[in-house]
Amino acid sequence: FVTDKSAKIFVAGYRGLVGSAIVRKLQSLGFTNLVLRSHSELDLTRQSDVDSFFAAEKPRFVILAAAKVGGIHANNTYPADFIAINLQIQTNVIDSSFRHGVKKLLFLGSSCIYPKLAPQPIPENALLTGPLEPTNEWYAIAKIAGIKMCQAYRIQYGWDAISGMPTNLYGPNDNFHPENSHVLPALMRRFHEAKVNKAKQVVVWGTGSPLREFLHVDDLADAVVFLMDKYSGLEHLNVGSGKEVTIKDLAELVKEVVGFEGDLLWDTSKPDGTPRKLMDSSKLLGLGWTPKISLKDGLFDTYKWYVENVVEQ
Ligand code: GDP
Repeated sequence: FVTDKSAKIFVAGYRGLVGSAIVRKLQSLGFTNLVLRSHSELDLTRQSDVDSFFAAEKPRFVILAAAKVGGIHANNTYPADFIAINLQIQTNVIDSSFRHGVKKLLFLGSSCIYPKLAPQPIPENALLTGPLEPTNEWYAIAKIAGIKMCQAYRIQYGWDAISGMPTNLYGPNDNFHPENSHVLPALMRRFHEAKVNKAKQVVVWGTGSPLREFLHVDDLADAVVFLMDKYSGLEHLNVGSGKEVTIKDLAELVKEVVGFEGDLLWDTSKPDGTPRKLMDSSKLLGLGWTPKISLKDGLFDTYKWYVENVVEQ
């Protein structure tokens, strides 16, 4: 994969957090033939449009980073969108990729595919061993179907489709929506606005006790290239940093990076979600990949991007 810099690569979802990081990574490695389509240029939920696109473009590689994503509140509020849109996008892209001669496809999911009470750190084989976390099971079911679809096409047709399951991601191009985003961008925005407005308090959701693992999206992009190059197995692989923090410690760290000097107020009427979510990424690490960006460095980088691209726009 890495040797042929002129190979045509379709990065689905190139404007999102994950897709944009993959495009930056591929460009920095000298790939010259990326095929990119915005949502308005190609609606991936429309099967016939997707199929025509593949028939016309015939990409050699596909990285599927397009999805409807959101935090705990968005998942709870829009369950129909989360299951239907994700199933449509991934089914269309995976099937058309296969039918139009794509050599290799990488499907990206998330750590929420695992049971709520999975052993921690969560190994790949914990998949489908227990009930899911109810706040995001709609999204999780779609992503599990994507993994299974890649496996099914490999088994039935010998087609090279692999899946990577990243832990909680953050970085440039994240969604900083006050309610619908994930915790890290939500807090960054709230602390920033509190700093600017000289507020004394910032509300943070839940108890602060849940543990989460975070990975900078540039590390994920590095892992994506690594997997495209080195991995062709049936099983999905976890992609994590191996480092976990409590939501309370995360909030303190974001507060420090942003430079907010007031207090935190915990709103325990908001859900905590799953108590702990740490991936066991030892399979990927065993293949020779390592994450490089610390949470603190990654937070500074993300805050700089937020100020330059969201606040000052
Ligand atoms: P999750 O990892 O799928 O549970 O998704 P989130 O990133 O949305 O939430 C992670 C944790 O952060 C949960 O325990 C939330 O209650 C907590 N949290 C604290 N403040 C916020 C906030 O402002 N937004 C979000 N999304 N979560 C928050």
